[in-house]
Amino acid sequence: MPSSHTKRGPTKRRPTTEASTYKNYVNGQWVDSSTGETFPVYDPSTEQIIAHVAAANSADVDRAVTAARAAFDSGPWPQTTAQDRGRILFKLADKIRQNAAMLAELESRNTGKPIVEAEFDIADVATCFEYYGGLANKVTGNVLPVPANALSFTLREPVGVAGQIIPWNYPLLMAAWKVAPAVAAGCTCVLKPAEQTPLTALRLAGWLDEVGFPPGVVNVINGLGETTGAALVAHPAVDKIAFTGSAAVGKLIVKSAADTLKRVSLELGGKSPNIFFADADWEAAVDGALFGIFINQGEVCSAGSRILVERSIYSKFVEAMTEKAKRIKLGPPLGRDTKMGPLVSKAQYERVGSYIEIGKKEAKVAAGGGRAQQFSKGYYMQPTIFYDVQNSARIAREEIFGPVASVIPFDGEQEAIRIANDTPYGLAAAVWTRDIFKAFRVVKSFRAGVIWVNHMQPTYIEAPWGGYKQSGFGRELGPWGLEEYLETKQVFVNLDETPIGWY
Ligand code: ADP
Ligand code: MG
Repeated sequence: MPSSHTKRGPTKRRPTTEASTYKNYVNGQWVDSSTGETFPVYDPSTEQIIAHVAAANSADVDRAVTAARAAFDSGPWPQTTAQDRGRILFKLADKIRQNAAMLAELESRNTGKPIVEAEFDIADVATCFEYYGGLANKVTGNVLPVPANALSFTLREPVGVAGQIIPWNYPLLMAAWKVAPAVAAGCTCVLKPAEQTPLTALRLAGWLDEVGFPPGVVNVINGLGETTGAALVAHPAVDKIAFTGSAAVGKLIVKSAADTLKRVSLELGGKSPNIFFADADWEAAVDGALFGIFINQGEVCSAGSRILVERSIYSKFVEAMTEKAKRIKLGPPLGRDTKMGPLVSKAQYERVGSYIEIGKKEAKVAAGGGRAQQFSKGYYMQPTIFYDVQNSARIAREEIFGPVASVIPFDGEQEAIRIANDTPYGLAAAVWTRDIFKAFRVVKSFRAGVIWVNHMQPTYIEAPWGGYKQSGFGRELGPWGLEEYLETKQVFVNLDETPIGWY
């Protein structure tokens, strides 16, 4: 292993393998795991190891949290003005834009997502840092009209040390959604990327010092969820946990965080309905149904995985979707005309495959139904469409997180709403119709945090993101995202100089 505590970023391992070696970024330095342990990172299109990353154990997590704590409590961060925090975020955004091509390629290689999608992601990453850079000096309190001879007001203050745990589907974007608002608010953070996809966040860590982050303000540690992630959640010096991932892990996090009463915000899974009424624009609707579920290989928390279609157009709609789905171009992630790459990992490939087998017993297959056979290597799964699906079926209730659509027929608006809301989740929902009365009635009826009308998936930094029900709580993006990292301090200043006179 290369020596620890160097200031150098990711180093090339020579000469036997091309896989790079990455360390953890703690207190402004690159450090190995205290036990020297590493874990492998793969290219899911070749199944080859492309990197080895230092695995942070609980002692390493403690070191990172201690650094973040010190930076918050006594470091230069509390004295750094909101303007300067904003400037640092702008510089980081610049660095990302300058290196966008490299980051997009690395993201695409590590996740399997098409390069064109990765390029959009990286542009959004920069936009996110810019947005919160601009918001940093717009955090204000209120003056309150209390009925007293007094001045009553609120101060908005950073929550403290944030532990941030993110998933593998949009690795650097999820890092940005977490780190940018935390830093803007004046928090310090310890970020744990997903073990499948830590590489772009580590490249980002390599610029933190240069753009002006004092040591300890942003730390990036890596390792498995059950060890590194769990240690971060349990650590008593962490004030808040922000998590994006599965509902199962979200529940574990809430339980563990209860011991130290940490603030928690969760963005969990979904089984989002995408509703098509008979009067919807036909071409746009068919496209929208496919885009809703097959973008990013279906590895999207807001995936439109339940496609509800009005019975009068149902058969024709399933046919049209099927026809188009068969022409979706699967290919190597770096191919510019690739529309779907491999799934992120062997485990995810097997998980999706097992749901497809379950689906074959529960419903009928219109398209796909298993591995994309044209590839000899890589975790390629066909875009798969099940139809005549019961909303009670497992493939309609459980989040698959892959390119698997369940098409369900319905009769009329009331039934569409009932089926749409009959799910434990409530992240997103979409409705397609040209009737504005119907559209807005459905919008109001949805029990979900993100609603699209005549589209599905567009996501903007200005608008809040988060779920109802078991899709979690708290909101990211926009000013809502910053709120999650702020405390409210209430101050009462007595202006009446006479004694209280009570005793
Ligand atoms: P998936 O199983 O699809 O990878 P997870 O919800 O398990 O989704 O993973 C999302 C993130 O949560 C990852 O960074 C992972 O390491 C982390 N994680 C998994 N299990 C735990 C846990 N018990 N405690 C804390 N973090 C965890
Ligand atoms: Mg897991």
